Amino acid sequence: MHFTDVHTHFFNAFNTFVIDVSDDFTKALKADFFSVGVHPRTEKTLEDLEDIFLALNLLAQEKNCVAIGECGFDKFSPLSLSEQEKIFKTQILIAQRFSKPLIIHCVRLYNEVIRVLKKTNFTLPVIFHGYNADIQTTKNLLKYPNINFSFTEKSLTGEKSLPEIPLERIFVESDTNEKTNFASLIKKIADIKNTGFDEIKTGIDKNFERLFCQF
Ligand SMILES: [Zn+2]
Repeated sequence: MHFTDVHTHFFNAFNTFVIDVSDDFTKALKADFFSVGVHPRTEKTLEDLEDIFLALNLLAQEKNCVAIGECGFDKFSPLSLSEQEKIFKTQILIAQRFSKPLIIHCVRLYNEVIRVLKKTNFTLPVIFHGYNADIQTTKNLLKYPNINFSFTEKSLTGEKSLPEIPLERIFVESDTNEKTNFASLIKKIADIKNTGFDEIKTGIDKNFERLFCQF
């Protein structure tokens, strides 16, 4: 069966996927859909990243660049909050300039992400990848109609927020787990949402098309 994988670090022969090429820009040449960004756990400051951002600006203009990221905030980053904000904001500006959605990496700093998205008036689609936040955070994020949620097999474990999230805003991904079992991940979502496998799978495929195949 064929699945749509919104965030992965690997090429896959069977699925349609957005590959994150941030670690090796040359991967972008072989990708149908890719995202590129600077991870918030980087040790580099904005100054050190000047060349990277020049390249990023060029890559973002490619037709198969469908998103900027992963980018965002991480509680365990070696960088200060203000340095993380500078790097995140630079990427938001690139996303706005070329009308690309954002793939967000966020560890325990949801309020910071929201604050910066608001400050920059970012209204294009946003996907929180590897989503596993609590129900209160989820309810807060759902207030913003451009925010979407993507689950890995790992991030879905013990998920209480899922019943609150409408199908139109749900994605699935493999991230760093090349062996992700998408059928079981979707079955799990269907069970939690008390609906059928086909409904969830079709819904997620449509979400993917809506966000990334409109060019
Ligand atoms: Zn990732």
